[in-house]
Amino acid sequence: MSTLDIKDLHVSVATEDGPKEILKGVTLTINSGETHAIMGPNGSGKSTLAYSIAGHPKYDVTGGSVTLDGEDVLAMSVDERARAGLFLAMQYPVEVPGVSVANFLRTAKTAIDGEAPKLRTWVKDVNTALDNLNLDATFSQRSVNEGFSGGEKKRHEIAQLELLDPKVAILDETDSGLDIDALKVVSEGVNRFRAKEGKGVLLITHYTRILRYIQPDVVHVFVAGKVAESGGAELAEELEANGYEKYLGATV
Ligand code: ADP
Ligand code: MG
Ligand code: MG
Repeated sequence: MSTLDIKDLHVSVATEDGPKEILKGVTLTINSGETHAIMGPNGSGKSTLAYSIAGHPKYDVTGGSVTLDGEDVLAMSVDERARAGLFLAMQYPVEVPGVSVANFLRTAKTAIDGEAPKLRTWVKDVNTALDNLNLDATFSQRSVNEGFSGGEKKRHEIAQLELLDPKVAILDETDSGLDIDALKVVSEGVNRFRAKEGKGVLLITHYTRILRYIQPDVVHVFVAGKVAESGGAELAEELEANGYEKYLGATV
């Protein structure tokens, strides 16, 4: 059982005109066994939330707290956050020329577990993870993200998710740029992960499309740097029908 607890989180970024507050008091709790979706219009601060939890240096936390099983996430280094069991799909380098997928995955796994994985089972696990995502075995010899298509990048992220086996996964726009076949494969990967014991998922998305394949337990509408409303899966259907207009009007 694990819990990611975000309380009254305020985050600013530095701009030419001084600090600008992007997150204005975000509160949400994700328990293991739950999948939460955050939906919101562009520019509402969804990625800022993901980067802040991951520890991106550009984002300055000015108030509130983030804890994982009671441990202060905001006091941890980026590495410590990963070792504590947090996974962010976007935290990995965009391109790592000269580093193969196989080496990258093994290095990440070793860093998180504190010891190298046993070679024989590891090779089997990697091949299974790639195969599950319709990536062939030669994929593991390619340089990380170099020349990857949008779909390959996302499938590689989900292979990482399956192999690194965190407690809580934060997936920011994992659906963007995917055709329908890739979307299904990626969604199946997320569903395999969430079916395991004790896993939490925070799925950030602009569109409801992915929620047809990954059914959230809780949906949060995110507007102007905070949660405007929370509800069940039916809230996503309402958003699909009516858009964000109602919320945007309310914030003016
Ligand atoms: P979303 O993911 O919901 O589209 P973002 O978190 O990317 O939203 O951005 C929220 C707001 O914060 C936007 O208005 C964006 O322009 C602003 N913002 C994000 N990062 C920075 C930055 N480094 N400098 C200035 N403004 C930023
Ligand atoms: Mg955006
Ligand atoms: Mg975003």
